[in-house]
Amino acid sequence: MLEIRYSEKKKMIIKKYNRVLFITNIFKYIPWQATAAMGYILVFSLLPAFQTLATAAFVDSADLVFKGEQAYESVFLPLFCIAASLVYQNMMPMVNNLISVSAQNQLRIVLKTQVVCKQTRLKYQYLENEDTCDLIGRVCQEIDRKFWEAYVNLLNGVRLGINIVSMIVIVMAHTWLGGVLIIAVSIPLLYLAELMGGSNYQMEKDVESLKRRYHYFGQILTEREYAYERKLFGYSSLIKDKYKKLFNQSYQVETKILRKSYTHMKSGSIITILIGMVIMAILLPSLERGNMSAGIYIGLVGAVFGLVQSMSWQMSSVVLGLARLKEYLKDYQAFMDMEEEDEACTEPWIDENFLFQSMEFRNVTFRYPGMGDDVLNNCSFQLNSEKTYAFVGANGAGKTTITKLIMGLYDTYEGEILINGRDIRTYGYAERKGMIAVAFQDFARYALPVDQNIHLGNMGEYDEGQVQKALDKVGLWDAVENMKEGIHTNLGKLEEESTDLSGGQWQRLEVARLLYARRAINILDEPTASLDPMAETRIYELFRSVSLGRFVIYITHRLGAARIADEILVLKDGRIAEKGSHDQLAALENGIYHAMYESQRKWYE
Ligand code: ADP
Repeated sequence: MLEIRYSEKKKMIIKKYNRVLFITNIFKYIPWQATAAMGYILVFSLLPAFQTLATAAFVDSADLVFKGEQAYESVFLPLFCIAASLVYQNMMPMVNNLISVSAQNQLRIVLKTQVVCKQTRLKYQYLENEDTCDLIGRVCQEIDRKFWEAYVNLLNGVRLGINIVSMIVIVMAHTWLGGVLIIAVSIPLLYLAELMGGSNYQMEKDVESLKRRYHYFGQILTEREYAYERKLFGYSSLIKDKYKKLFNQSYQVETKILRKSYTHMKSGSIITILIGMVIMAILLPSLERGNMSAGIYIGLVGAVFGLVQSMSWQMSSVVLGLARLKEYLKDYQAFMDMEEEDEACTEPWIDENFLFQSMEFRNVTFRYPGMGDDVLNNCSFQLNSEKTYAFVGANGAGKTTITKLIMGLYDTYEGEILINGRDIRTYGYAERKGMIAVAFQDFARYALPVDQNIHLGNMGEYDEGQVQKALDKVGLWDAVENMKEGIHTNLGKLEEESTDLSGGQWQRLEVARLLYARRAINILDEPTASLDPMAETRIYELFRSVSLGRFVIYITHRLGAARIADEILVLKDGRIAEKGSHDQLAALENGIYHAMYESQRKWYE
């Protein structure tokens, strides 16, 4: 589903975000820098023709001065023109560098804000999909540099165009055959460069994907978060091998790109040098016959070889850059076209009058975008507010997937999910966020003060009394009270004065966040998985005792914790295979629950 929508979007891109729109946006974001860079490049583009004519004028006037046919002063003007063009050529790049720094700073502010906002509004499904994650990385990393370089490259294309045309005009004024030869060689060179630009961008995509992966292994090898297990397990050499393998792969692709570009440019330059020699030979008889002045001949020699240089090196790199820009704009548009969640950035909206009554899955079938197998297959069940429920099942059975669907993170399922008899897709995103709170297994540990860590669960008004109450209920209050700055103590390892919590304390904090959120529907999705089974059961029992009156779903693969629920739903092969109280299910001799319970019984003895 995601793929289809994604490729449909991709087709629209070429029409929508083309180079014209790109340039319009550049002028909107950085008006003066874009204008200054354009002026600089335009003057630069006429410089070779100007220098050729000035050199020719200088040589011819000097010749006439030496023959005594002209006054000495006549060389001053051409000499001044040559000097002025050289000063421009040498001084202006520095000014241009300053423009470039200012432009990139400004672009960083504008574009980074844009893409960060877009990222926060993206539908959740994109953030879990490898292809779209790669795309997001490609578009957003160094976006300011990419935009600026693309713009400069476009300008360089214009410069080169003017440069080549003006030089061809001068060459053709003296030898039309030379001009035709230059044009004949430039067309296939241009075409080749364009082809190579496209294929290079494809290879660069592979490199970025490889880089993302080896950066991950790099983090494992260097970051503090992994330090403890790194020492304990001594896995560094295994991870190093993985890192090295991916790094080498990426290096090989990068070398291939460079090698291709280099051989292409080199072969182009050899051909064009030969063309330059031929043109010089063609012009020799005119010089001999006196149809052409020595000044023009010398000016043309410089010009033709300058042109050859431009055509072989600069043209390839400009066209390569243009092809790369085309591909980048496709990606950029695909990123901008990714669907957004309505109200993604709005705070949860809590309807004080909302009273939870029931939740129902009606024949829900779901698979993750781009995946082959259904995770849920015609899954149906109904939950009522009077009871508490536990979902159990082996790892990978689909328990967390059910949580994600309830939260509305994916809406690409078949069937219906109803809350109080109403399709969840008809509730607003902010409204749904205000209804449901989840404590996940891989919850985030924020390097923020204790109270803010809890306040994150309910971004409405801050209530210190409620924070304390929540901490007290999960048995964390004594520990927090003894910290240097009480509930304002920074947690984690970011600040010097921070205090870090143990794994179990973090989990209690997560449960406190859930309590503070005071939502109608609460889901505990194994936030206690790293505790031992008995401790997990205790936390679940604790939650049950402190969350009286609220609807709670427990998700676990440990049955000791599940037994505290009134009703247990056993998930297997994408649907509910058994349903009942602990005692009922444990008594089913050949049941799945019975078998799981027997194999786990020793954990609790
Ligand atoms: P459980 O919570 O029961 O352990 P999950 O709901 O997390 O199981 O996963 C169910 C299945 O869906 C597993 O096979 C898992 O590999 C797969 N899965 C989970 N998340 C994704 C995802 N983002 N993309 C693709 N497959 C996924």
